[in-house]
Amino acid sequence: MADRPGGVARMIRDEALIPLATPSDEAWLREQASVITDPGELLAGLGLSRAELPEALRAAADFPLRVPRGYAARMRAGDPCDPLLRQVLASGEELREVPGYRADPLAEADHTPVPGILHKYHGRVLLVVTGACAVHCRYCFRRHFPYQSHLPTAARLDEALAWLAARDDIEEVILSGGDPLSLTDRKLGQLLARLAALPHLKRLRVHSRLPVVIDSRITPALVDLLGDPRWQSVLVLHANHAQELTPALRDGVRALQAAGVMVLNQAVLLRGVNDTLAAQEALSLALFAHGVLPYYLHQLDQVAGAAHFAVPDAEALALHAALRARLPGYLLPALVRELPGDCSKTPLAALHHETPGTLSHLQASPD
Ligand SMILES: *Cc1c(COP(=O)(O)O)cnc(C)c1O
Ligand code: SF4
Repeated sequence: MADRPGGVARMIRDEALIPLATPSDEAWLREQASVITDPGELLAGLGLSRAELPEALRAAADFPLRVPRGYAARMRAGDPCDPLLRQVLASGEELREVPGYRADPLAEADHTPVPGILHKYHGRVLLVVTGACAVHCRYCFRRHFPYQSHLPTAARLDEALAWLAARDDIEEVILSGGDPLSLTDRKLGQLLARLAALPHLKRLRVHSRLPVVIDSRITPALVDLLGDPRWQSVLVLHANHAQELTPALRDGVRALQAAGVMVLNQAVLLRGVNDTLAAQEALSLALFAHGVLPYYLHQLDQVAGAAHFAVPDAEALALHAALRARLPGYLLPALVRELPGDCSKTPLAALHHETPGTLSHLQASPD
């Protein structure tokens, strides 16, 4: 998700008032504080031509470039089509207006009972805990999200927690953002202690790309927080390409698993990044080698500025069928699209077939 310019820096400054917990905390915080924000620096570091730089600068004015240095180090020097570079380098293609691509493609504003809460699906809610991310992904569907009116000020967090306290039909809280793991372990701990006091919450889920782009993020303190036996915990990572995964990430995932945390991955299907059978197969196999199971493969949300990443549904379905013929079932992610107004993610195959009749006698009473 997109943070306001300077969002991360502001947060680090706040945190500097508090003594940092462990040396390993400092390592990822230092990486988060020293991200590359200048497209020229990124291109020069990879030995690439600056011919596209003026366009990149214009696109980055709207949604700033932000790339952790360790992530940039995993890009192939001299390759303008590197799949990691393509995810983060601002490009002139973003400035094109394409019909159907909007600022709020999921109409999330319609599902916000109080600021910071997104409630669309039965029994679970998203809690937006920060607008900041360590990386800015150019295809991000929240790149135009009005974080300013959702950011968790103390008063807004009180309001969100009061809403949650009154909804005992909610069993799962999903920390989202921005990237919730851009918060320090200390701040996360404070938030989780308040959530833990609500007895109807059973499952804790965290949606984060941070351990993928800064592989020292899974600290011992974070393992303790997510491994707390109070919770049935799930960490859903966001990696799109095998080249993003590192041995340090694997070590972090192993520590989480030893503490009883389930670790899954969601990816976005992206033109020029992972839209081949070879790339998808390599991603699933590499995820498993790092202790992670593929969960979702998302069709791109139609957010303004991201149309050049779109893969047509027919091609996505063919790719998914080919993948099914290559992999064990447990390494096949569900290919889905999020539709505003649906009560779950929608399997792409179902969108292109007859809709089944409703089993009215089996339906639970509506929320
Ligand atoms: C994607 C999403 C969820 C989680 O859906 P799952 O299918 O359980 O992974 C929950 N709430 C909102 C608003 C979402 O967009
Ligand atoms: S990390 Fe997630 S929320 Fe943040 S910019 Fe990337 S896709 Fe968006």
